[in-house]
Amino acid sequence: MKVETHVSVTVRMRMFVPLVVATMFFVAALTADACTAIVVGKKASATGHVLIGHNEDGTGMYMRHAMLPPGDGKAAVFWSEAKKYAGGDQVGASVYSERGVFVVSNNGGVMQEWDGVTFSLPDEGSYSTISGKGIGYDLRFRAVERARTARECVDIMIALIKEHGYNQYSRNFLVADAEEAWILEVLNGRRYIARRVPDDEVVAYPNCLIYNKLRPGDLASENITSKGTDFDITSFYQGPRTWKSPYNLYRWKEMYRIAAGVELEPGAEYPFSVRPAHPISVDDIKRGLRTHYEGRPYEVKARHPKKDPKIIEPICRHTTLQSLVCEMNPNPKETVMHLTVGRPCEVEYGVYRPFGGVLPGDTAFGEKAVTRLVNHELPPAARIINGH
Ligand SMILES: [Zn+2]
Repeated sequence: MKVETHVSVTVRMRMFVPLVVATMFFVAALTADACTAIVVGKKASATGHVLIGHNEDGTGMYMRHAMLPPGDGKAAVFWSEAKKYAGGDQVGASVYSERGVFVVSNNGGVMQEWDGVTFSLPDEGSYSTISGKGIGYDLRFRAVERARTARECVDIMIALIKEHGYNQYSRNFLVADAEEAWILEVLNGRRYIARRVPDDEVVAYPNCLIYNKLRPGDLASENITSKGTDFDITSFYQGPRTWKSPYNLYRWKEMYRIAAGVELEPGAEYPFSVRPAHPISVDDIKRGLRTHYEGRPYEVKARHPKKDPKIIEPICRHTTLQSLVCEMNPNPKETVMHLTVGRPCEVEYGVYRPFGGVLPGDTAFGEKAVTRLVNHELPPAARIINGH
């Protein structure tokens, strides 16, 4: 598939709906990457369609939302992103198109710095992109505005990675439409693995890789498939301090317990997906997203002063900027987003239908925002690896 190399997002961004979330805790030098995601296959869902849940986490940030109007073969896109008060890079976003394709992501876990893993990733060829340093933040947007299905969106993302190279360490993308969902893990350079979520199962994940070994049907880059079916993707690219840390394990374990009714042992291998004990509802996901593990031996009662892999993190934490449950519908006009403006333990979910109304026209929103979007496309590589 031919993928354009120049995106015109700057001129398409017409209307911004500011929904400012005050983060009350500014912790110096802390980059809090603790997003938690869940996606429910349509046969595991109480609605009969794919369900998605996601907590967006970040420090010193606010959320903002935009509706990007359609144009030039591109779909209108509802955009919800975390933005630093101090300016600079955009760090996290969920996007949903008028064609019913949704993308959100978690940081896949910093590999070298945090884990003390000594390997360095070999260069996978020169990066060729707008910034000259690979594609990063706007990978999701460039794909979702063109895709008609989740599968097509995955294909476009892979084509962009092949073309440009990925400029962060790692990221777990969740790509879905009402009928099917994919998890696309992208690693620095030109490495990727995409796996379809089984229709009758659910995938929950924190900030680490969740693939383990390749399976039939996976879409993976040649530099991974060439290592064979016994190659352990997770443990090769991440040290156990990431993928077995309390920081990650309890969010993963508790989301499955609360939303899916499935008990997993901390310290066990991450399963890619599990079969839930009951059809999963929107309320099940909300309970998972707002938990501090109440009533559990490891209930989290304190707010955390520093980044420490040994700390048990709740799913709803002091850095949670927004909680989102997307109730996918084959008719995107009927798709419902349940959104909190703030931490979901404190704020009730509001109901929003991104495409339920009239699409925005040419409501100008000013030069400043255009400048911000230029920044979108040119992430300084050194800073974005500490992003979200
Ligand atoms: Zn909370």
